[in-house]
Amino acid sequence: MPSPIRVTVWNEYRHEKENPKVAAVYPDGIHVALAGFLGNEADIEVRTATLDEAEYGLTESALDATDVLIWWGHKAHGDVADEIADRVAAHVHAGMGFIALHSAHYAKAFKRLMGSTCSLKWRDDGEKERIWNVRPSHPIAAGIPEHFELEQEEMYGEPFGIPEPDELIFISWFAGGEVFRSGATWQRSHGRVFYFRPGHETFPTYANPNIQRVIINAVRWAKPTVRLPDKAPRADALEPLAR
Ligand code: ZN
Repeated sequence: MPSPIRVTVWNEYRHEKENPKVAAVYPDGIHVALAGFLGNEADIEVRTATLDEAEYGLTESALDATDVLIWWGHKAHGDVADEIADRVAAHVHAGMGFIALHSAHYAKAFKRLMGSTCSLKWRDDGEKERIWNVRPSHPIAAGIPEHFELEQEEMYGEPFGIPEPDELIFISWFAGGEVFRSGATWQRSHGRVFYFRPGHETFPTYANPNIQRVIINAVRWAKPTVRLPDKAPRADALEPLAR
């Protein structure tokens, strides 16, 4: 059996401690909810890390031992040191997979990888979201129906300030009328990046079987094929050079 995919689920873990409405949905934190269903997969080995740990649990050695990093953050993006956001981005360029969930569209590491504003429209009124699977042949969409619904979610609307995705997999429609590119992939140097929209902290979105299936599929898709830290050396000629 091949070695398991080593996943780190990172969560800023602030809403759950400060807002009883969030604690009621995710009593142990969003990271524990995500790690719970991922850890049930035989080929996935999961650990969690949070903002209040030393170096947020994202030391060089922790990232070296991470095949795919999942990121959930919202209110404390600014508390993440630039140095560690740069470190995460460097690991993605070297081959680590990166999955940005929901409000991680504004995470420093995600913005570095996108190189764009990553801004969007939003409305936290708990409306219906219908998610359309527009690329059913993609491994991230395996087992996902043509469309499914979340009864209550925060609305995210276009325009979404992302670079043109390499692959657009999901589009959301909201009861209020907006649409949004909800599932998109990018290659960044040797690493694969997936953004997946659903997952507002006051709704039980991560308990939805289709949402769980997408995240499990995305871990398998994003696992590294190589791990090549960036360097730019002077190269000796392989053949004699005429003078
Ligand atoms: Zn939200």
